[in-house]
Amino acid sequence: MAIASINPVTGEVLKTFAPLTEQELKHKLALAESTFATYKHTSFADRTQWLNKAADILEAQKAEFGIVITLEMGKTLKSAIAEVEKCANLCRFYAEHAPIFLADMTATTDASRTLIRYQPLGVILAVMPWNFPFWQVFRFAVPCLMAGNVGLLKHASNVPQCALAIAEIFRAAGVPEGAFQTLLIGSDRVANLVADPRVKAATLTGSESAGQSLAAIAGHHLKKVVLELGGSDPFIVLKSADLELAVTTAVTARVMNNGQSCIAAKRFILEDAIAEQFIEKFVEKFKALKVGDPMQPDTDVGPLATTQILEDLDSQVKASVVAGAKVLVGGYRLQKEGNFYVPTILADIPLEAPPYQEEFFGPVASVFRVKNIAEAIALANSTNFGLGASVWTNDHQEQEQAIEQIEAGSVFVNSMVKSDPRIPFGGIKRSGYGRELGIEGIREFVNIKTIWIG
Ligand code: NAP
Repeated sequence: MAIASINPVTGEVLKTFAPLTEQELKHKLALAESTFATYKHTSFADRTQWLNKAADILEAQKAEFGIVITLEMGKTLKSAIAEVEKCANLCRFYAEHAPIFLADMTATTDASRTLIRYQPLGVILAVMPWNFPFWQVFRFAVPCLMAGNVGLLKHASNVPQCALAIAEIFRAAGVPEGAFQTLLIGSDRVANLVADPRVKAATLTGSESAGQSLAAIAGHHLKKVVLELGGSDPFIVLKSADLELAVTTAVTARVMNNGQSCIAAKRFILEDAIAEQFIEKFVEKFKALKVGDPMQPDTDVGPLATTQILEDLDSQVKASVVAGAKVLVGGYRLQKEGNFYVPTILADIPLEAPPYQEEFFGPVASVFRVKNIAEAIALANSTNFGLGASVWTNDHQEQEQAIEQIEAGSVFVNSMVKSDPRIPFGGIKRSGYGRELGIEGIREFVNIKTIWIG
């Protein structure tokens, strides 16, 4: 895949970039390693200052960065600006809390003193996706830098301008040269990087297949990996729920980011008693969504990021229909320039149909009807994914049952699933392993050193 910015609204190639030569890549790896030797000794006070400065830059130039994001991957400008603001919050959160999260801990043993110390590992490689092209990178880079590690970013090939802008933000914030570098390379060069002895660990956010291939190489070289992969999150609505709020949130949870979010609600599991009412409102609200130019403030759904994603989604919907699913609204791409797909609701996808087990990465919702909470949970758990789950009920016992029995990295009750710097984020099953954000995220790439003083 060429490294290029292509406007998903027009198909226009905005800019192309030559991938790094082998020599340039070697130089960057060497710089990362030599920088770590000094960077690991920098103080929390310095790191805090750099990251607060990065937050200032993000806030001051959020409109400018928002435009870069929208032009490269098509999310609405208002959501792109919100993403930049969220990155600023993340910087401030870890700037304040990392010194506490990584302070020495004590334990009571029969030693005279026992300590647990958190030390950086070295050069960490991040392979990142295009769907939240700032947020995904910041949520890796900020804890990485605060912990004293140095980062190498291999961003998705369709968002090179975002990748370069992020490197420039850290540089302008005062982060030492070499502590965070962007590598403009294709995915075919990731394996060698993971194998390189200077790279101590890696993280990948993206598809299952990319995660599998990176983890296989890292496993061979015995390196730690964090994987944030796909999802097909359930959104369960039971009869005691606030239906109006549940439907309104359901629409946002499915179509936010033009439907291209790992934690988007994808399967809507409705208790029989409220299913008809829910579906009627859901369809009505989907019909009212405005699809179009992501730069316009009243647009709800912009284009998909690439023509490949559009074609894949279209094929999945067609395959679902062939397998017996009903289309309640949408079900087709817009016959105009750009990667636009009409917000779609499918009903009754047979569980044995191939698309049932797949992630729909676009504005396509699937609805299912169940008799009760037990059936809802069984259906929720019936995919290979386990990222997030949203459950709507005002019955306390049902809330507890869902929290306890749903197989996912998070359960949100009467709320859509979201990421927040203050709480851990990640999945189980084929959605990956390891955690980002919160105290757990910053402790993924450190040596947790046990110190025993006799
Ligand atoms: P993708 O194709 O896997 O790409 C993601 C990144 O991995 C890109 O940088 C890509 O590089 C690289 N890559 C692709 N194949 C690789 C390989 N074999 N070895 C090493 N690197 C490889 O993912 P996508 O389809 O663009 O992104 C959407 C997926 O990401 C969805 O499944 C979504 O659910 C998931 N996602 C998960 C989370 C989460 O936190 N769990 C968040 C966002 C997205 P190139 O661009 O150069 O190919």
